[in-house]
Amino acid sequence: MRERLKICVFEGDGIGPEIMAPTLELLLTLAERRQLPVMDFTAMPAGAGHYRDHGVALPKTSLAAARDADAILLSAMGLPEVRYPDGTEISPQIELRMALDLYAGVRPVMLFGQPTTLAGQHRLDFVIVRESTEGLFASHGKGRLEGDAAAEETLRITRTTSEKLFDFAFNLARRRAAAGRGHGLVHCVDKANVFQAFAFFRRIFHERAAQFPDLRAEAIYVDATALWMVQQPQRFDVIVTENMFGDILSDLGAGIMGGLGFAPSADIGDDHAVFQPCHGSAPDIAGQGIANPIAMILSAAMMLEWLGETRQDAAMLAAGGDLRVAVERVVREGRIRTPDMGGPDGTAAVCTAVGSALDLEVVG
Ligand code: ATP
Repeated sequence: MRERLKICVFEGDGIGPEIMAPTLELLLTLAERRQLPVMDFTAMPAGAGHYRDHGVALPKTSLAAARDADAILLSAMGLPEVRYPDGTEISPQIELRMALDLYAGVRPVMLFGQPTTLAGQHRLDFVIVRESTEGLFASHGKGRLEGDAAAEETLRITRTTSEKLFDFAFNLARRRAAAGRGHGLVHCVDKANVFQAFAFFRRIFHERAAQFPDLRAEAIYVDATALWMVQQPQRFDVIVTENMFGDILSDLGAGIMGGLGFAPSADIGDDHAVFQPCHGSAPDIAGQGIANPIAMILSAAMMLEWLGETRQDAAMLAAGGDLRVAVERVVREGRIRTPDMGGPDGTAAVCTAVGSALDLEVVG
């Protein structure tokens, strides 16, 4: 009998449900065809729409379902007009990261034929690992105002989280090298020339690097990283960095990738993982069936790969890789393109094309 996996699904707001539904269909068909474990998808409420209608953004039952699941798939949450009384945005995805201790934010930067602003680059494949539970974001909600004269936020780096983060980055580089996708190189990105906290961060990085003698470890300042990401991005394999720097650099990465519609992500901890596209709920195009589903599908592919790795299930690992390659083929061929790719097609057409590239009969 096939094993069963619990996948907690957050469809979220705006284009969220539109890109989630065909992605789940692709996953179901792929699992059936390859006889992978059966994925039991359970949709749970959360997001700005739920807050507007029920006064709570992430219900306790939804958090409990996420905690109980084998993996969590999330599309996009937030609506510009729905806010907390203090004016901040509804972002249960940040609550999930903190509640489930998802310290490693994995943001691949890949070029596989999509339009890009980087001259002369056609293929690119590196990963940003953004620490997602501390750094400058540790100050979230705790900033101090000194009347109208000054304001202060505190950046926090801990040894425990940094060690886990660096080990995650080195292990990722090792797996990428073994798969022929990387050159066994990890860059620690910081500002160690100016701040004690980053000198500490860098020191722990070099300590952990000693445990991975088969890999190269280099430290680099964040400003130089921004320059290199544009001028010599092929130098990178795995970048590991603090929360705020990672937040900024991953949007630079999404820009390099040709836009938010292409950028997948994973937030991974020791016991849980959330997979979601980097983009928001895109309310300006919601309800029209024209959202680009690629970032969502690539996030689902990352989920399959993570499940395959953590459960030592080679078939799931291979299915994740094949799903990614199928997406790349559809983009490279350029016949089916949503408006953000400069084409006239809809979400369903892209999903059907990805299904065909995988030799699956997926009806969009
Ligand atoms: P958030 O703050 O919630 O991350 P955001 O302010 O970054 O959101 P998005 O919702 O990501 O904004 O949208 C930014 C722009 O990118 C919008 O014009 C939107 O239509 C476009 N966009 C985002 N995702 C997609 C997608 N999957 N397909 C097509 N266009 C998209």
